[in-house]
Amino acid sequence: MTKESPLTTALSQLQGAVDHLGLSENEWHTLSTPRRILQVAVPLRRDNGDVEMYKGYRVQYSTTRGPSKGGIRYHPDIDLDETIALAMLMTWKCALTNLPYGGAKGGIAVDPATLSASENERLTRRYTSEILPIIGPERDIPAPDVGTDGQNMAWMMDTYSVNAGFSVPGVVTGKPIVLGGSLGRISATGDGVAIATREALRSKGIDIEGATVAIQGFGKVGYWAAIALEAMGMKVVAVSDVNGGVTGFPSVDALYQHFQANKDLNFPGSERITNQELLQLDVDVLIPAALADAITEDTAGGVRAKIVVEGANGPTTPQGDLILANNGVLVVPDILANSGGVIVSYFEWVQDKQNYFWSAQEVKENLSSIMLKALADVEETSTNRGVTWREAALMIGVGRVAEAHRLRGLYP
Ligand code: NAD
Repeated sequence: MTKESPLTTALSQLQGAVDHLGLSENEWHTLSTPRRILQVAVPLRRDNGDVEMYKGYRVQYSTTRGPSKGGIRYHPDIDLDETIALAMLMTWKCALTNLPYGGAKGGIAVDPATLSASENERLTRRYTSEILPIIGPERDIPAPDVGTDGQNMAWMMDTYSVNAGFSVPGVVTGKPIVLGGSLGRISATGDGVAIATREALRSKGIDIEGATVAIQGFGKVGYWAAIALEAMGMKVVAVSDVNGGVTGFPSVDALYQHFQANKDLNFPGSERITNQELLQLDVDVLIPAALADAITEDTAGGVRAKIVVEGANGPTTPQGDLILANNGVLVVPDILANSGGVIVSYFEWVQDKQNYFWSAQEVKENLSSIMLKALADVEETSTNRGVTWREAALMIGVGRVAEAHRLRGLYP
């Protein structure tokens, strides 16, 4: 299977937006260069006393529109190029949704499944301590991503706070509620994916009630998206995780209960399918919500869904994208579809700064209004300029960052 580097994909998407917007060569240089890159060694003392070294990264791609913002990924394959690509995507995502942030990403090249809880804590605290000089509520605000969760954020917040000498909840988002987390953050990305799916169905003139959906990935994004989609009246017919997919289960809730108890998707009476087969199911909507490069030039031709909603970051390669567009598939791009997470992270940061916390209803309503505005902006630009939703989303996001650069000027 052809694998595309996530950085090559991200740069080619940026190039497209720069061309559509008619930006200058100078602007391309500014927009295609990450502002700050930090690579750190993260030593870990294992429970048995052995010491191992891991590579950690934090990339602040842009701080032009505000502090940088982006998740922390623990995955054995994460490297500097992918971290830069993901930080770049965060930059356009925050601008598209008009959040006062730049973009960042970080992570450690480690498989968290190989760590005990105390090893995970030591690794997280040491990584935090290594990147401490460049993070902070006014500088750069991490959040959970693949392989990390609220507990990791709690350790990061504590490590930062111990060094500051007082509690600094606003240094990370996605924290547990008792530490200054926001109601609705845990489901926010999935909720946003569901809103994007509903609006895409509307745009295509497909009935929302009973529309069929297949979801690749049953983690933080995939699971919560599935719950929200069912609540809106859609039918989730298949989901998958790293070990493969399943179809023919009675409800997402029933499947999740089984998954929680058994750590597998072998729901009694259901049928197992491969991740490949899931991508090719005859459904209204396909939601890749796992990792990058799921839909490539090798797999895009087999996609039978009418709409692809990108829950994951970078799940479609440029060649895959072209094939989907030629086949008339509407793609709701990652920077729009999965922006619910960073939108509610922004709400969490605002609440932490003000020490004033919102109700779940307020969070939901504000999330919905920001997402609907971004979706409407993208649909309008797509129609007016005759471009795909991805091109439109990138034009809006990249255009706002370019404008901010112009207005701030170049120092000195
Ligand atoms: P997660 O670790 O909670 O879940 C990942 C899921 O993908 C798991 O079910 C895992 O088994 C599955 N998976 C892993 N490798 C796979 C493979 N090769 N084939 C099929 N399934 C596979 O991660 P998450 O937070 O749900 O993130 C998923 C994607 O969404 C990532 O691309 C992430 O960057 C993006 N994202 C996450 C958030 C967030 O708030 N968590 C926000 C925006 C975007």
